[in-house]
Amino acid sequence: MEDIEYLQKLDKDIIWHPFTQMKDWIRQTPTIITEGRDCFIKDINGKWYIDGISSMWVNIHGHNKKEINEAITKQLEKIAHSTLLGLANEPSILLAEKLIMLISGKLNKVFYSDNGSTAVEVALKMAFQYWQHRGIKGKTAFVSLKNAYHGDTLGAISVGAIDIFHEAFKPLMFNVFNAPSPYCYRCELGFNRASCDIACIDELEGIFKRHGREICALIVEPMIQCAGGMIVAPSGYLSAIRQLCTRYDILLIADEVATGFGRTGRMFACEHEAVVPDIMCLSKGITGGYLPLAVTVATEDIYRAFLGEYEELKTFFHGHSYTGNQIGCAAAISCIELFEKDSTLNKLAGKVELLNRWAEEVKGCRAVGDVRTIGLMAGVELVMDKDTKRPYPFEQKMGWQICLDVRRRGVFLRPLGNIIVIMPPLAISEENLKVMLEHIMTSILEVTK
Ligand SMILES: *Cc1c(COP(=O)(O)O)cnc(C)c1O
Repeated sequence: MEDIEYLQKLDKDIIWHPFTQMKDWIRQTPTIITEGRDCFIKDINGKWYIDGISSMWVNIHGHNKKEINEAITKQLEKIAHSTLLGLANEPSILLAEKLIMLISGKLNKVFYSDNGSTAVEVALKMAFQYWQHRGIKGKTAFVSLKNAYHGDTLGAISVGAIDIFHEAFKPLMFNVFNAPSPYCYRCELGFNRASCDIACIDELEGIFKRHGREICALIVEPMIQCAGGMIVAPSGYLSAIRQLCTRYDILLIADEVATGFGRTGRMFACEHEAVVPDIMCLSKGITGGYLPLAVTVATEDIYRAFLGEYEELKTFFHGHSYTGNQIGCAAAISCIELFEKDSTLNKLAGKVELLNRWAEEVKGCRAVGDVRTIGLMAGVELVMDKDTKRPYPFEQKMGWQICLDVRRRGVFLRPLGNIIVIMPPLAISEENLKVMLEHIMTSILEVTK
């Protein structure tokens, strides 16, 4: 007991938590996690919780998964890490082979880094320099969508567009053209989904028309903008932007950091509309939620633009200390193999159906304005007034209140403002999914009554 209190005090004294107002944090008792199993995590007091957000959207096959544990141990007995700068290693080669087989044949060059933000930085720098190397010097600008989230490093926040996260750093960012977010529930253009004909695409085309010759790439989160509020794009949106990029000679960067590895019901979200991007960023689920690893996968065409004589300095001057880390790659290989072994995607159908049925039901709640789902991801948008769509005031922390309530019932969630995010490990059983959704419904009703 003394130990627990000591750790809790020490955490408050010396840890600065991410995306956390520490003044609030130190007023509360931190939940310290000590163990995980399947879709559950256990705190230091022995209480188990369903990991309703897959440990910040990373876990796929559950915690303490035998096969991944073994793959890591096996690799550890050989070597933990050697550099990819000037050396190659076995797991990084075998993983790259698996990845390009999973993705499309057109994307066949794998650049390693270690988190989603760096995967995005790499993509941005590749896209930018691609045009420079081709001698088309004017294409230097990026386009991204409102409500986009691409990570927290400076390049990634420059293409991000969530005011409360990004506003403070504006002076440090490069300029980016922002196209409207396909946020149908609160359409920026004032349209109604039933009759809009996806007018936000015309806005994007307007930007391409006016500035196409300055634009090197468009970066998007395919099918769903996650951190921006679990905003699911209308069907046809993604394929339409692919066509526009091709027509205006603009690279398409698909940031699949959150959506990759089955989260949307397909291995990659781009598959929903048979879209092949020019660059794809992957991280979060890549190691099944075990280790930090990321890849930026590019086309042959982009790769070739960087080939040249040594003194031409066409080299891609980017790399990280832990690039291609062997343990991470071994975990990722095991994670990919598990998709087949466990029939992870095939087994999703029933769970997705369950989630969608629940979504219809929860839509009926007085405080629920909209529910958006794709695959095994969902966002429940809370509103004070359903008719006017008036949100709960920021300071009321309604999302947080509900998440704290449901935590007492044994479900761990983390909201995005007024949006309750639901993203359990793909391996969750139907039974546990049902229990989790029931608890969430109860908490929504209780807290908003
Ligand atoms: C989480 C996320 C990132 C950033 O990944 P980190 O590993 O947290 O740096 C980038 N893009 C998207 C779409 C994400 O959801």
